[in-house]
Amino acid sequence: TLSDRLSGIFTKLRGKGRLTDADIDATAREIRLALLEADVALPVVRAFIASLKERARAAEVSQALNPAQQIIKIVHEELINVLGGEARRLRFAKQPPTVIMLAGLQGSGKTTLAGKLARWLKGQGHQPLLVACDLQRPNAVNQLQVLGGRAGVDVYAPQPGNGVGNPVQVARDSIEHAQRAAKDIVIVDTAGRLGIDAEMMQQAADIRDAVSPDEVIFVIDAMVGQDAVQTAEAFRDGVGITGVVLSKLDGDARGGAALSVRHVTGEPILFASTGEKLEDFDVFHPDRMASRILGMGDVLTLIEQAEQAFDEDQKEKMTSKLLGGEQFTLEDFLDQLIAVRRMGPIANVLAMMPGVGQMKDQLAELDDSHFDRVTAIIRSMTPQERANPKILNGSRRVRIANGSGVTVMDVNQLLNRFADAQKMMKQMGGMMGLPGARRKAT
Ligand code: GDP
Ligand code: MG
Repeated sequence: TLSDRLSGIFTKLRGKGRLTDADIDATAREIRLALLEADVALPVVRAFIASLKERARAAEVSQALNPAQQIIKIVHEELINVLGGEARRLRFAKQPPTVIMLAGLQGSGKTTLAGKLARWLKGQGHQPLLVACDLQRPNAVNQLQVLGGRAGVDVYAPQPGNGVGNPVQVARDSIEHAQRAAKDIVIVDTAGRLGIDAEMMQQAADIRDAVSPDEVIFVIDAMVGQDAVQTAEAFRDGVGITGVVLSKLDGDARGGAALSVRHVTGEPILFASTGEKLEDFDVFHPDRMASRILGMGDVLTLIEQAEQAFDEDQKEKMTSKLLGGEQFTLEDFLDQLIAVRRMGPIANVLAMMPGVGQMKDQLAELDDSHFDRVTAIIRSMTPQERANPKILNGSRRVRIANGSGVTVMDVNQLLNRFADAQKMMKQMGGMMGLPGARRKAT
């Protein structure tokens, strides 16, 4: 699936310390393939990849993230974009009733959606009326009546001798009926064909003209592949749609339709249908869908953790402390080391930390195990020693070396480097005001 493919791609990135243009190109190529295999429409894939590359090169995302996390974050945000950004709410008429017309191929889930919408709107205090305008299928009216019964919502159906076989008439009459019955929302279920045909499209257009809907919702089965594009375009051009509902998202393995339909129709996805029961239904949230496609809640959590690990508070506290002329102590240094360590590979995060940032060059050759050793050394010091390394005489250094399992030379080396950094920071603090403080780019 798309999720599996993407997580495979991200796993490969995870070990990298920094991404070259070649890395970005290779990754973009793989993501492109994964999207195409998931039946995402080509124009959508093109736009997606172009944007991904540009952003990855600019590396505009948070410096608290390692390269793999940065790419994941960009992909996640681009997925949200493609899915429409913010959720859009239903548009209600200024003068009730609000008319919602459903359109789509047969079997796409219109009638089921009608029941779900009615139940949902009723739950919000509305008085919806369901209208049966699918007079094509023998059982369609009955199906809507059953759903209406379950939702506890009235159903307007053709009366014998009046409107039988004429869905346009039924639709028109239903509006009057709604006004008489004090219904504030009318949901018009319509017929669909297995494929797009002119007659069906004309009927849908006629119903639209009869009821002047506030929303024409195009219902699309999320399991259809590349056909989604053609179908969506046909309904957009033939009936004119104002919103989309993805149905059968529970069965969707590939996610392609979801990613294509917004781009192709230019209209927002309003709701997601995720099962046969009336309650299997929710407002569509692009961000949740994007996370679902990424299929890696854990990775996204990881990103959040990384960003929290280096929280703004801590940074600001440190900066103002240094600006105020206070000493950068080994205690501060230790705090920062621990925060950095929580973020994974050290190389990329060092530069953004006030204090440690100044030691970047000295620490550049260190790998994670060196890093842990430095942490151990500082941990073996008493608070007084951390605050004032000058008191660290020979015997204290021996004690610390023994306590942290390193040589006295290691301890000396660390203290020398720290003294250099401290000095340098003092100078820089005086010169520039903000030692080592860089703003997060996001
Ligand atoms: P219509 O022809 O467009 O009115 O489609 P229906 O509402 O009759 O749905 C066709 C079939 O798909 C029915 O068997 C529904 O139970 C099923 N269905 C509709 N929506 C969903 C959904 O979100 N998930 C699943 N699993 N099945 C659905
Ligand atoms: Mg139906």
